Amino acid sequence: MSYSESSGISGTEPATSSNFSHFRLRPELERAVAAAGYETPRPIQSRTIPAALAGRDVLGLAQTGTGKTVAFGLPVLERLLTKPGRGPRVLVVAPTRELVVQIDGELRKLARFTRLGTVTIFGGVSERAQIQKLQRRPEIIVACPGRLLDLLRQGHVRLGQVETLVLDEADHMFDMGFLPDIRRIIAALPKERQNLLFAATMPREIRRLAEQILYKPAVAELEHSMPAATIDHTLYWVPQNRKLDLLCHILEEQACASGIVFTRTKHRARRLARDLDKIKYRAVALQGNMSQSARDRAMDQFRRGQYDILVATDIASRGIDIEQVSHVINFDVPGTPDAYTHRIGRTGRSERSGTAYTFATGDDATIVRAIERMIGARILRSEVNGFTVPEPKHESRRANNVNKSRPSHGSSGGSRPNSWSESRGRRRGRQGARPSRRMKR
Ligand code: AMP
Repeated sequence: MSYSESSGISGTEPATSSNFSHFRLRPELERAVAAAGYETPRPIQSRTIPAALAGRDVLGLAQTGTGKTVAFGLPVLERLLTKPGRGPRVLVVAPTRELVVQIDGELRKLARFTRLGTVTIFGGVSERAQIQKLQRRPEIIVACPGRLLDLLRQGHVRLGQVETLVLDEADHMFDMGFLPDIRRIIAALPKERQNLLFAATMPREIRRLAEQILYKPAVAELEHSMPAATIDHTLYWVPQNRKLDLLCHILEEQACASGIVFTRTKHRARRLARDLDKIKYRAVALQGNMSQSARDRAMDQFRRGQYDILVATDIASRGIDIEQVSHVINFDVPGTPDAYTHRIGRTGRSERSGTAYTFATGDDATIVRAIERMIGARILRSEVNGFTVPEPKHESRRANNVNKSRPSHGSSGGSRPNSWSESRGRRRGRQGARPSRRMKR
């Protein structure tokens, strides 16, 4: 059942387009699309842009990495160019500073042949520069909820002219406790406006918000809870005190030129980055206790290849858009199935392949089951002699029963698959299934 059927939102599946020229965008936007190297619209784009251009509300169920920013960016810019007016006329709200900066960068790329202006608003840096930019009344505000609300309360932002509201990663904003702020921001907007809401998952509260603010939305639902098909997933059962050794073993085995390692806490991220660095790896931490400039620096250095490994927490990593991440390693199992999808969504982006490893201890059996239920497949188990331990008994029995029809794929170099995976692998081989990819050295 599709989301629109199950949600009660009276949306329709939008018409699709296979070519950017079908959208009949203004020449300056077409030029920018060509200059960005975008040849064909991504599914989320072909399914939402026509509806958004027609002025309709949109509910886009898609993960970051699927091309969402262009999906809302082009219609928003087209509207601004077609009907001039005083800014700010578009408000984009997103959960993290990193995502705000990323969205702003993408919008600027699309608006490069226009005179349209943007401002980014987020906490952790001085308000002054943001206030000065707001005084120039740019057409577009891209903001995190907290700082935007502060500036709104102080009277530095006027939202009375906003024609389009974009809520990006609405589910993360809910996870992070921003929903009350979002409601306050919405209350400051004109009632008549276009709403474009994007989320990878639909928790009940976001569904309620969507029902309240969207009017007959075009609903574009990608396989939102499924990680990219280009990612190979592997899981190791490992005692807590062997995780670092296993990580080093994997980093040695796989020529990991660009990997993100996720930990449960800021403290663990900081310590692990330090430990890896001491051992010999070029690793840097990205966690919420770092100042904004330290976070920007870490991201930038990782992006430019000065570091091979970014050790991150969930919140700090939201919306990270780095094209060439080859490996995601869940040093600690994520707390929710959604977090699993988002973490491993950092690799396999833009239709490239990627590899995701998860280190699970005996305590993680329940959440591992929940993750597998959500992705609809059993994650391949691997063992490494001397590092890993056998799968907890009850988990193994259940998994064998549940996932027979949907085997997972992939294999880790040099590691020995367990017997279940071997037998599935043989069957898959006979059936002509996709062979597993090994990372090249
Ligand atoms: P997003 O989901 O907005 O984070 O987009 C993920 C990445 O896809 C960004 O780096 C975009 O530059 C890129 N992208 C967006 N649309 C296209 C397209 N039609 N063709 C190729 N790349 C795209």
